[in-house]
Amino acid sequence: MAKRLLKGGRVVDPAAGQDGELDLLIEDGRIVAVGRELPVPDGVQVIAVPRGFIIVPGLIDMHVHLREPGQEHKETIATGVASAVAGGFTAVACMPNTSPINDNAGVTGFILEKAREAGLARVYPIGAVTRGSAGEQLADIAELHAAGCVAITDDGHPVATSLIMRRALEYTRMFDLPVIDHCEDPSLKGDGVAHEGFQAAALGLRGIPGAAEEIMVARDVTLAAMTGGYVHIAHMSARGSLDAVRVGKDRAARVTCEVAPHHFTLTDESLERPIKYDTNCKMNPPLREGADMEAMIGGIRDGTVDVIATDHAPHHADEKHVEFDRAPFGIVGLETCVPLVFDRLVHRGIITMPRFVELLSLNPARILRRQGGTLTAGAAADITVLAPDARVTIRAAALRSKSKNTPFDGWELRGAAAATIVGGRTVFVNDSVTGADVFA
Ligand SMILES: [Zn+2]
Repeated sequence: MAKRLLKGGRVVDPAAGQDGELDLLIEDGRIVAVGRELPVPDGVQVIAVPRGFIIVPGLIDMHVHLREPGQEHKETIATGVASAVAGGFTAVACMPNTSPINDNAGVTGFILEKAREAGLARVYPIGAVTRGSAGEQLADIAELHAAGCVAITDDGHPVATSLIMRRALEYTRMFDLPVIDHCEDPSLKGDGVAHEGFQAAALGLRGIPGAAEEIMVARDVTLAAMTGGYVHIAHMSARGSLDAVRVGKDRAARVTCEVAPHHFTLTDESLERPIKYDTNCKMNPPLREGADMEAMIGGIRDGTVDVIATDHAPHHADEKHVEFDRAPFGIVGLETCVPLVFDRLVHRGIITMPRFVELLSLNPARILRRQGGTLTAGAAADITVLAPDARVTIRAAALRSKSKNTPFDGWELRGAAAATIVGGRTVFVNDSVTGADVFA
């Protein structure tokens, strides 16, 4: 593969202690040199990075639903990774709630093969905690690990039984795998469809209290401390969950957590306006009230939150165009994440660019023990180029994802992914924010 030199961008790489104008030399899919005003060897393709653009280690979304095998009408691995690279992600970790469930090496191998064929973002499969994610018997975790799974979870559902969670945390220590939990007490969640509060009451929707999540987070933190296992809390939404995570971290339990962009941008008031009963505002955990959203922003600011992950959950329009009660939970997120993080967090002074990189690249790489998260010499050339000041308007119809279920249609935001480079190869260029062919 040709040598390429990325010249003149602001490189932000907190793991390497770098933040400044640096050049990056790429050869054979790897970064071979990083430095100021690098010499230009013969035969090198020089890419002049436009002024004001920022170069960061490739973004990693550790919580996506790619729907294949089994629900290809919502998304396929090919369309999912196309959506990922269009959103600036060089890697995604995909949840096992496919059909069949990814609870064995056959399904894991199928996902990896489809990802290889698609050849865009890297795909890291996550296996199930229990057989069929039924919550009864542990899956063959050794087999899943050997097949390439990077974590286990029964996402979509919690690991409801404390004893099974205990055994999962104990057993995964052998493989150093995190157990990712969708925290929700099933009896408290009941058949709720929205956050239990004023809005749900006013709209006549059955509620899911914040406590349903908080109780499960507290349990998981307790079990992580007891077993020495590693728990990662998925898509946190309720303010009390942050308190539980803080207690765990203070006690040196192995616990990390993530927040999805919709939980730091929207509240349950979106159920009322601009569109009443908009099923694109139905997700699990639900959009909560203002104090919860502010708490998530606070946790992102103070470092309690380790990761921003999208919980990309594609659903076909026909499935969402039904009564609120009957609609499936979830929204797509890969292509709206970077603009939301810039607009709501970076430009408002909530986070710095080094923290942006920690939340969206370094920490996911560390938690899943994958390459990436840094741009030092020798690392794979997985690179995201960002245009922090680009003005974008989200257009649901224009999303690369096969599904268009987003509550952000028409939103005007500042900040975008400009180009995505995986293994030294440019796999996406955002023509609307870069001059033509800059990264080709
Ligand atoms: Zn979930």
